[in-house]
Amino acid sequence: MKLRSIISLILVVACIVSIAACHVPGTVCTPTTSDVVTESTTGIPEVSPDSSDATITPEDTPAPDTTMMPETSAPETPPHMCEFAHYQEIQEATCTSPGLGRNTCECGATEDVVIPALGHVFGNWTTDVASTCTENGLQYRVCENCIYTETNVLHATGHKMSTPYESQPLTCTQNGIVTTKCEQCDYYEETVTEAQGHKYGEYKTTKSATCTKDGTKERKCLNCSDAQTASIGKLGHKYSNGVCTRCNAEDASYFPKHYEDDGVSITINKITYGKTVCYVAEVQLTDYARFFTACGKNKYGGQSSTSAAAKLQNAVFAVNGCYSAPYLNYQVARRGVIYNGGERNCGTPGVYSSVTGLFGTPKMLGVNKMSLNDAVAQGLVTDTFCFGPESLVDGVNHAKKDSNRAQRTFIGTNGTPGHLVIGVSNGRYSDGISPGLTGWEINEVLLQYGCTYGIALDGGGSSTMVFKGQILNQLANNTERNWIVDFCCISNP
Ligand SMILES: [Zn+2]
Ligand SMILES: [Zn+2]
Ligand SMILES: [Zn+2]
Ligand SMILES: [Zn+2]
Ligand SMILES: [Zn+2]
Repeated sequence: MKLRSIISLILVVACIVSIAACHVPGTVCTPTTSDVVTESTTGIPEVSPDSSDATITPEDTPAPDTTMMPETSAPETPPHMCEFAHYQEIQEATCTSPGLGRNTCECGATEDVVIPALGHVFGNWTTDVASTCTENGLQYRVCENCIYTETNVLHATGHKMSTPYESQPLTCTQNGIVTTKCEQCDYYEETVTEAQGHKYGEYKTTKSATCTKDGTKERKCLNCSDAQTASIGKLGHKYSNGVCTRCNAEDASYFPKHYEDDGVSITINKITYGKTVCYVAEVQLTDYARFFTACGKNKYGGQSSTSAAAKLQNAVFAVNGCYSAPYLNYQVARRGVIYNGGERNCGTPGVYSSVTGLFGTPKMLGVNKMSLNDAVAQGLVTDTFCFGPESLVDGVNHAKKDSNRAQRTFIGTNGTPGHLVIGVSNGRYSDGISPGLTGWEINEVLLQYGCTYGIALDGGGSSTMVFKGQILNQLANNTERNWIVDFCCISNP
């Protein structure tokens, strides 16, 4: 039995005892209105007295009450004293409604007793919906004796945030994040510090640029290990009078070009004859042997480019010679070495002697009635030139005036020892502007330089002038011909 029920029962019993106490045997059966619930006073509905029960109400009591009679009155039968020995529950008390009990005396008198409402007897709270950080929950408990249910709101707890911690470190390129998390749910808050990017210091040169090669530079981040490299553009040459003041490179486009040592002086001018660009070298030899002819690869009929020949002969200056010599059956002298005969009289358009320093026709040098062998043996001839024909003789231009223009290579002299004029022209518009020279125009150029004698060497794609390793003229098809068989060279000392 539950405690409440026990208490309720005790109360009922106490009430009965209280009633019984005032109706002890021997007292007059006059129940007080306060203790007894009568039909008229009871507020309890539905409690109707048993019809078979002879209830005695105060009104029913006989009017003459003998109990109050003086002693002097003659005693009759002793007054009846009610004893409510019999109790009966008329209506059970519930949690919320009082019940009714009834005591009955042997005489039939009754008195009704209110049984107080029992009140609910609740069990434990049961959680129906648990509360979360942000949502209310609900609990309930049910009366064990009836179906009455009580509910109670469980209030949202609110987030329980952790101590802030660095969840992502701040770097130059990554945002920094400080996070605090709810210890009860997955709610979190972040404080973001934006990455500021690298902060670079000044560039420092790691490799210096030169006139022709890029350099490199590097700068480092002041806040991390990041480094940036960049190239430093090549400086380009800084020419002064055709020579780079930084690296001494020659400016190919600068004219006049000049070379001079104890044995030779060379001055090369870039001129225009008509519309044709020409490169004309004025040469004065004091060491006559510095000028010579050479076969490609130093072999009769050997082929090479002019650049390769210049390199092979250690030449400061070189032009192409006559590629057709091996096929024209000329006898040839190269630096005093005779190829392809030598018994015949000197019949080439031009001869040179590195002994006398003279250049001209065999007749001009007085060897026209002499075999090449003899001329070479006497040092009157060391080199022969076979392309020809000689068309500038004794200062007279004997060439026909035609319109056969091309790139040209030519050589002449004013007739004094060691004097040579060696020219190469652009032509056939390989440079976009130069039509080239005719044979007659070659002689006109030589005449401008004071020459009295001159011959043409091979032209067209063969025409090449090399000075200090650089090709000065505009090549045909922009390509250097590499099957030339002889060359005119001026050696380095
Ligand atoms: Zn009675
Ligand atoms: Zn209840
Ligand atoms: Zn939370
Ligand atoms: Zn950084
Ligand atoms: Zn330079």
